[in-house]
Amino acid sequence: MFYIGCHLSSSNGFEAMGKTALDIGANTFQFFTRNPRGSKAKPIDPKDAAALQTLLKTHHFAPIIAHAPYTLNPASADPKTREFARLTMQDDLQRMEYLPGNLYNFHPGSHVGQGIETGLQFIVTLLNDILTPHQATTVLLETMAGKGSEIGRSFDELKRILDAVKQNEKMGVCLDTCHIHDAGYDLSRLDDVLNEFDKQIGLSRLKAIHLNDSLNPLGAHKDRHAVIGGGAIGMQTLTKIINHPALKHLPFCLETPNDLNGYAREIKLLRGLYRD
Ligand code: FE
Ligand code: FE
Ligand code: ZN
Repeated sequence: MFYIGCHLSSSNGFEAMGKTALDIGANTFQFFTRNPRGSKAKPIDPKDAAALQTLLKTHHFAPIIAHAPYTLNPASADPKTREFARLTMQDDLQRMEYLPGNLYNFHPGSHVGQGIETGLQFIVTLLNDILTPHQATTVLLETMAGKGSEIGRSFDELKRILDAVKQNEKMGVCLDTCHIHDAGYDLSRLDDVLNEFDKQIGLSRLKAIHLNDSLNPLGAHKDRHAVIGGGAIGMQTLTKIINHPALKHLPFCLETPNDLNGYAREIKLLRGLYRD
């Protein structure tokens, strides 16, 4: 089964996202848990959450991805900023218990000059504070482009977080193709990249793919997404990615610059390129 979807707006609630996904031919999707600025989240409507869970089950969706506000910085030098990230992520995870069995993805953060070691330690401390043995959500570290002092620009940095988190059986990785290309991983040599991932982190940790092309050349450390086939990664490599035996069972989520019609077209295009 090919699981493909895109980022959707959550402003009309949970079940509405499921219906939109069905309308555009998706069988997974991603949404922000709250306004990206990180403000207060709307209260959960348990009935709406249950209706979405039913829809996902009925239509055999892959797990869906809740994305933390990208403005959080769990690796910040400022204790208040770290505390805000901790409270927000803890609240998000409690809310995710209404959608059991899904994924919660976050950006590890930026160490803003204190150095990678200190930044890594702050991220690990935060995760050790918020993960619980009984949670029904898998928390994903996203691979990052390495813009500024972003942590997670190499598989090794993610591995070091995973190794140090006590409850790491609740954790996995979301691989963003634009980000790792911008970080310097050459996806035209896909087997080499996946072998490296497997050696460092283990492919069993890989739970989702953000499928994006990139506006910038390999290793640019920029992070600007392009439409599928409209960037430096290109159609041929993206086709190899969705069909790779180590990846083809995973949920693929588009974060390309598109409106809903554009997403529907890309989903259709990729379904045509997927080999069962
Ligand atoms: Fe992201
Ligand atoms: Fe992403
Ligand atoms: Zn990005």
